[in-house]
Amino acid sequence: MSPIFPCKGCGTFIERSTQHYRRVKGQVLCSTCADARDAAAQMRPVFWRRWLQRFRWQSGGGC
Ligand SMILES: [Zn+2]
Repeated sequence: MSPIFPCKGCGTFIERSTQHYRRVKGQVLCSTCADARDAAAQMRPVFWRRWLQRFRWQSGGGC
């Protein structure tokens, strides 16, 4: 039987192995929050790329 931990994102109690708990250093996330975190991590490079493009566009003089 696996122990139950509260999700760090939404507080939902989820069943996870102690091995998993140690691997994530206590930052246990339910599948929904883990998916949201992964999506945010994938979006971050796009955000920075857009920010850099905007910066270059402004400093380049435009037109
Ligand atoms: Zn959650």
